[in-house]
Amino acid sequence: MQIVIVGAGIGGFITALSLEAAGFRDIVVAERSREIRGLGVGLNLLPHAVRELTELGVADRIAELGVEPGTLAYFNRHGQAIWSEPRGRDAGYAWPQLSVHRGRLQILLRDLVEERLGDVIRLGHSLVALEPGDAERRAVATFEVAGGERVELAGDLVVAADGIHSVARSLRYPEEGGPRWGGLTLWRGTALIEPFLDGRTMIMAGDAEQKFVAYPLGAPLEDGRIRVNFIAERRGGGVSGADWNRQVERAPIAELFADWRFDWLDVPATIAGAEELLEYPMVDRDAIPQWTFGRTTLLGDAAHAMYPNGSNGGSQATLDARTLAYHVALAGTAAGVPAALAAYEADRRPATARLLELTRQTGPERVMQLAFERAPEGFADVHDAISAAELEGIAAEYKRAAGFHPSELAARPSLGVRRSADASAASLRDSGAA
Ligand SMILES: Cc1cc2nc3c(=O)[nH]c(=O)nc-3n(C[C@H](O)[C@H](O)[C@H](O)COP(=O)(O)OP(=O)(O)OC[C@H]3O[C@@H](n4cnc5c(N)ncnc54)[C@H](O)[C@@H]3O)c2cc1C
Repeated sequence: MQIVIVGAGIGGFITALSLEAAGFRDIVVAERSREIRGLGVGLNLLPHAVRELTELGVADRIAELGVEPGTLAYFNRHGQAIWSEPRGRDAGYAWPQLSVHRGRLQILLRDLVEERLGDVIRLGHSLVALEPGDAERRAVATFEVAGGERVELAGDLVVAADGIHSVARSLRYPEEGGPRWGGLTLWRGTALIEPFLDGRTMIMAGDAEQKFVAYPLGAPLEDGRIRVNFIAERRGGGVSGADWNRQVERAPIAELFADWRFDWLDVPATIAGAEELLEYPMVDRDAIPQWTFGRTTLLGDAAHAMYPNGSNGGSQATLDARTLAYHVALAGTAAGVPAALAAYEADRRPATARLLELTRQTGPERVMQLAFERAPEGFADVHDAISAAELEGIAAEYKRAAGFHPSELAARPSLGVRRSADASAASLRDSGAA
């Protein structure tokens, strides 16, 4: 079976690895960029995604790149603690949460794809057209390559993992236009600072108007400092196109947070000392009614771009990839691809649409907004503003919707499966083995 994956981002590479693990080898990954440069700053992989990466046999290599946050803690804009909870294995999961540099992750995934599949990545291939195919005919993806030439790649399956500006999606939804702006501007960066709190805590401070998020991205360096990823965010700004790579000056952004000098973290100093600072509008896309057309489907941000604040981008793309490979492997043959894609979409589209809605309501970060509304000048005891039961309820609801509530994650059967048209493949999932 011939498979074409469009986009060599996080979702595209994990799809290639998942399909390879499921027994497929005739795979091409076509990417618009002329080189894999490993761009971006921090990205979190939540335990449900790390479970999938573990079963794919790549989690150890990824863990070497980053760190495992032990706690997630929310604060108000005065630096007072609202809520904190253990994360990953500290929260009793069998799998850790991992904080990694997106660029380093992308380079590692490229290496893994080349190790397992060989020379399958086609750079400088920009998707411009996509014939969906049907039960009898293959899909055909057309790419523009250097010099404006066009190259066609036919596939029994074409997976479009071409990100938030997906061309594959725009071909099916030409009226949709650009991503939808939520009214906030984000500044993302990395900085070398003294460790804060216990050195393994991801923090979020502020409220719906202005917020600061920071988490370690690696072990302490020789001089004791750690590299942190941070996201400073503020209502306002403008929609100037969702470009992941737009660099901006540090001083004006640090000034916006001038009062945020907590006794445990100096926010303006962290921003002012950033190694790089990237501006990005808080954008997502509305859920769409259909991902699959003939032998083609959408995956990752192309299917369900969400605000980059719930640690969902990489994690949901990982779940998509594994679910897709699972259904395609169960189908086993090219003839079964349309039905496999329908099953993939039935599993993943409603789940991600629900999650998209929750991220628009700011998900678990609602506790920060409640604290702001009920005690804007701060509090002596957070429970004067929000009861413990309310705090716990908000955290649990989000985990359930995102697919990583501890008990549900532990009970979910494995998505690991080898290609087979017979019933033994299905029994792997039923038994939770593989
Ligand atoms: C440059 C960049 C930096 C990012 N930085 C961060 C970050 O710091 N933190 C974070 O949480 N998330 C970041 N993201 C988003 C994050 O990678 C995704 O939300 C998530 O990992 C889902 O991955 P994806 O594969 O669906 O999309 P992406 O990782 O965005 O990958 C999409 C891929 O498709 C390629 N592509 C686009 N159009 C075409 C086309 N027409 N033909 C062929 N290929 C095409 C792109 O070049 C890209 O390699 C970044 C994305 C990009 C592209």
